[in-house]
Amino acid sequence: MENLSNINVIKDLMTRHGVEFSKALGQNFLINPSVCPKMAEMGGAEKGVGVIEIGAGVGVLTAELARRAQKVVCIEIDQRLLPILEETLAEFDNVEIINADVMKVDLPALIKEKFLGMDVVVCANLPYYITSPIIMNLLEQRLPIKSITVMVQKEAAQRLCARAGTRDVGAVSIAVQYYSEPKILFPVSRGSFMPSPDVDSMVIRLDIRTAPPVSVQEEDTFFCAVKGAFSMRRKTILNCLSASFSLPKDRLSEALGRAGVPACSRAEQLSLEQFAAISDQLTRMKE
Ligand code: SAM
Repeated sequence: MENLSNINVIKDLMTRHGVEFSKALGQNFLINPSVCPKMAEMGGAEKGVGVIEIGAGVGVLTAELARRAQKVVCIEIDQRLLPILEETLAEFDNVEIINADVMKVDLPALIKEKFLGMDVVVCANLPYYITSPIIMNLLEQRLPIKSITVMVQKEAAQRLCARAGTRDVGAVSIAVQYYSEPKILFPVSRGSFMPSPDVDSMVIRLDIRTAPPVSVQEEDTFFCAVKGAFSMRRKTILNCLSASFSLPKDRLSEALGRAGVPACSRAEQLSLEQFAAISDQLTRMKE
């Protein structure tokens, strides 16, 4: 098989098939040969494992996944890439390409249909215009998967993996930690792609939890509280929550007291346990 991380091979494939890179679809293809084998291995592609890939490009990561895993199902939105993938992945009989927008695919049904009896992982070099929506979509559906290993923009990686109580933390980091244990695996420089993007990247892995790290009475209220708390970063938790839940400050202040959270604290200072305690107090206030 040709070396799919070689610039000339990619250019030749694109020219022969009359395809140009689409910036709108986040098409920056990997040309650093060391990245995909490492991602596939650290992402858990191995015997007995089924892999969902999002965005095949010319198939450089797909091939590494197919070499190691039992089966790979790749969801690629760009129809123009299908003839290229037919050519580059011809030697593998354990790869299936689905031409669709990952945000519109019924993933629970896909997993049931395609990966019977296998452990399932997600491994992908994500299109950066839609990183967080894809990750949250995978997590919120509580898919029966073991992990999500993805390449994302460096800043997004730092935000997604930020611990509660640290400077980079945001609503998305708290949500990610609720569903998974996130880890930064390794950095990837902008020069590892063609065309080269304006940003550096990182590969992260989210190991899916079997149970959340905190228990809350109402998950919806928990996520609303987290979102509300981070809605105005400079403001106190009291101001943020009274605005987002339309609650009088005196009642909210008492509820925060019962949750053991100082009304003057800011969202980035709070632990997951404190968010859970606030959420349960807000639930109680509705009763
Ligand atoms: N895996 C290849 C690589 O590493 O070189 C390509 C990665 S490229 C950053 C992202 C890929 O995702 C592109 O092939 C693009 O067409 C595809 N893509 C973009 N939006 C998508 C969506 N909503 N659903 C599925 N695939 C998408």
